[in-house]
Amino acid sequence: MKQGKRILVTGGAGFLGSHLCERLLAQGHRVLCVDNFYTGSPRNVAHLADHPRFTLLRHDVTEPLQAEVDEIYNLACPASPVHYQRDPLQTMRTSVLGALNLLELARRQDAAILQASTSEVYGDPQLHPQPEHYWGHVNPVGVRACYDEGKRCAETLFMDYRRQYGLCVRIARIFNTYGPRMHPEDGRVVSNFIVQALAGSPVTVYGDGTQTRSFCYVDDLVDALVRLMEGPAALCGPVNLGNPGEFTMLELAQRVIAMCKSRSTIVFRPLPGDDPSRRRPDIALARSALGWEPRVDLAAGLARTIEDFRQRQEHSLHAQVK
Ligand code: NAD
Ligand code: UDP
Repeated sequence: MKQGKRILVTGGAGFLGSHLCERLLAQGHRVLCVDNFYTGSPRNVAHLADHPRFTLLRHDVTEPLQAEVDEIYNLACPASPVHYQRDPLQTMRTSVLGALNLLELARRQDAAILQASTSEVYGDPQLHPQPEHYWGHVNPVGVRACYDEGKRCAETLFMDYRRQYGLCVRIARIFNTYGPRMHPEDGRVVSNFIVQALAGSPVTVYGDGTQTRSFCYVDDLVDALVRLMEGPAALCGPVNLGNPGEFTMLELAQRVIAMCKSRSTIVFRPLPGDDPSRRRPDIALARSALGWEPRVDLAAGLARTIEDFRQRQEHSLHAQVK
């Protein structure tokens, strides 16, 4: 029988990472999940704990790591503005030192390595939708810079390891992704709105709600990450991964309230600093090079996500009663 690969997933106990670990195990690979539980939790991978090909290791990627691996997915980094701004220096260290440590591991092991980069490298974009060749519009001294510039620096390191050592690198520029297992206190918009609507409390729209985002369902995104890792060798530069469907935050709030059959009202709160006014991926490259495009639209993805939040709420209520 063909042996699966040995795959390291950093940030594997987070939202995206836990779904990726599941997918890789289902494909027959051995998965080493590394996480320091900064925003993730062993609970996210508890259902995999007894799997014979799964290992969970508590480790901070700002420290070097030794492991025998064929592939590395580097997802370690808080992704919600609330959490990455909580300790901006740690966010920067995670992006930059984490990338360096994992690139060194990839070099020693001759492993392929994929970086979970972000649409945030485009900052508040002046070009819309955003293609990969756009260099972006980032405030380097603002409150989001620890994340944006950290991820930009990581991309630079990846490309320099490619140029200097011929390493096989992949750069996924991930646009807003949501789905089951997001933490209720994650602070990002989809989880906030669902938690608020299910509780019947006011739904908090920041600013006037006209800013836009494009939301990708987690299963589509995981599919794209795996395709990118396995994609053509020449595909070492950045690739946008996201769903081009674009919505204002006000539209999203109204949809979530309606889908939750909630009585929540909408309240407006101040817009956080440097909040990008619009965002939509140009995914022509992913379509042509990976044969990938998202399949789950916002209505279907929200329905599954709302159901997951509802079930988790019920379980925790039952647990409290017991
Ligand atoms: P998440 O916060 O749920 O997961 C991040 C994981 O990384 C957590 O488990 C956290 O504990 C771990 N981590 C953080 N710092 C670490 C460190 N120093 N060492 C080891 N582990 C560490 O967020 P997510 O949405 O799952 O995002 C995963 C990755 O994808 C991140 O790199 C993020 O920047 C990127 N990304 C996500 C989105 C999105 O919309 N979900 C969009 C763009 C990019
Ligand atoms: N947002 C909002 N209400 C919330 C949380 C976020 O209106 O309770 C807005 C936020 O200002 C931003 C958009 O939703 O314009 C997406 O925010 P998120 O933190 O999910 O991701 P990012 O800003 O990193 O794209």
